[in-house]
Amino acid sequence: MSNDPKNIIVIGGSVAGLGVGVTLSADGHRVTILEADSSPMPASHIEAFEKWERKGSPQVWHSHALLSRLHTLIKERAPGLIEQLLACGAEELSFQQMAGRMIKDPVFEPEDEEIVLIACRRITFEWVLRRYVLDTGLVEFQDGVSVTGLTTRKESGTDPPVVTGVRLRDPDGTESTLEGDLVVDATGRGSKLKRWLEEIGAQPFYETSEPCGISYTSRFYRLHDGVEPPMLEGPIVGEDLGYLKVGLFPGDDRVFSLTLAISPDDEVLRSVLHRPGFEAAAAAVPRVAEWVSPETSEPISKVYAMTNLRNTLRRFVVDGKPVAPGVVAIGDSAVHANPITGRGITFAWISAAMLADTLREIPDDLNALALSIDQQVEKNLLPWYELQTQQDRGAIQTERALLRGEDPFQMTRPDGTTDPQAFIRSMIRDGLVPAMRSDMVVLRRFMRLANLLDPPDDLMKDPDLLQRIMAVYNTRNERKPVNQGPSRAEMVKILQAVAT
Ligand SMILES: Cc1cc2nc3c(=O)[nH]c(=O)nc-3n(C[C@H](O)[C@H](O)[C@H](O)COP(=O)(O)OP(=O)(O)OC[C@H]3O[C@@H](n4cnc5c(N)ncnc54)[C@H](O)[C@@H]3O)c2cc1C
Repeated sequence: MSNDPKNIIVIGGSVAGLGVGVTLSADGHRVTILEADSSPMPASHIEAFEKWERKGSPQVWHSHALLSRLHTLIKERAPGLIEQLLACGAEELSFQQMAGRMIKDPVFEPEDEEIVLIACRRITFEWVLRRYVLDTGLVEFQDGVSVTGLTTRKESGTDPPVVTGVRLRDPDGTESTLEGDLVVDATGRGSKLKRWLEEIGAQPFYETSEPCGISYTSRFYRLHDGVEPPMLEGPIVGEDLGYLKVGLFPGDDRVFSLTLAISPDDEVLRSVLHRPGFEAAAAAVPRVAEWVSPETSEPISKVYAMTNLRNTLRRFVVDGKPVAPGVVAIGDSAVHANPITGRGITFAWISAAMLADTLREIPDDLNALALSIDQQVEKNLLPWYELQTQQDRGAIQTERALLRGEDPFQMTRPDGTTDPQAFIRSMIRDGLVPAMRSDMVVLRRFMRLANLLDPPDDLMKDPDLLQRIMAVYNTRNERKPVNQGPSRAEMVKILQAVAT
């Protein structure tokens, strides 16, 4: 086996491509990143927010949670990057701080040290990451270079084509090719890999894709100087009103962002995706209103919307054979899911680390490399993907019931039978959520799961946990109802008032 350095071509210079740059250059490989956006580095993360052109990655203008698993991977693979993020005003949000605010006299376990999120804007994260990768001097980053296809060699009549490099277009329009030992597609959710593989005669790869039932809208705000931010219990403020999902995310430099998400089917609420409706809806949700009030903060961006969001998983081994050895997909190009759970960047870094480790194990066999990566995707990413699609189907049902004017928490059907889905929804709202405010075991399990530190076992199938959640659920009538925000009918009136 040869562990000679390889020439790695990475298509796409966003967080996944840069993650591959970090992990593979650390192993001595020569990495060339080709990025289509002509987007020279701004001088600082502040300028990046003000004027970085990142058309190829429109989600940079949305709220992002950076999960604990990502924090751990960065500490392992990019020592120094955390300090550089903190120097730009990012913050580490530890479990100790959060649990201390949520639970009286919490008792901690050593493993709780692992639960640390990073509060940082997506644009700041990418700027610091690109700076870090460039400063290593080990990665070549070519700006404004678009890949237009793949180069290939055919081993024999029946074998799949082997990818040997890329066809590309320089900023001045010159077409050329670049050959390497391995091509990594990190071109995001709009990846053209399907077409590129068709063009070289590869078999179609496996793809599953379905709408995730959400339209997203975000805006950034800055806290006024000298003003203390309102109380934050967990890492974010999160409210699920059924018809509206609300997330408020602390970022770097006293900036926070607010995201409101609605069902794409909810025509009446679409005005939330634009500024007047967004502002009115935000002001109507009590835990958010205090953050966005003019006494506390000022908006520093427009309201950005993103629609047509999907859950998509692509796999490149079909009937036990790689469709095209020599090319690997990483980040959103391989898997992207409902952004509400904030897993995308962490998935990208899990895959970047997996690629580096696998290449160390299997340096000279592109077929075996592709097979091994596919097995690891099945083990490490597929269960999360399946959990997400299952939860999204449930959420879509809830939203549709609300649109029909039904109560999605009504457990007894008109024929007297029990609706199991309504029971699960009630257990989450009246059991799991309040239990996280009183029971360390429940809070710890939930936070470890939400931060991808533990595999996605079904919380509701663990007998001890279920008992703890049931105990809280059974006292639901003794608690005062929490005012999360207006009902859908009330919100419709609020939005109509703004429209007129
Ligand atoms: C609304 C929204 C909110 C999200 N919130 C979170 C969150 O809270 N936490 C989280 O972890 N994740 C979140 N995500 C997911 C996260 O943003 C993505 O997983 C992540 O940005 C994907 O990075 P990537 O590098 O794979 O792709 P992208 O960031 O999409 O980058 C792809 C890059 O490839 C370049 N490119 C494209 N085509 C070519 C070509 N032909 N040649 C050369 N370059 C090319 C593009 O210019 C771009 O720079 C969210 C996503 C959305 C949509």
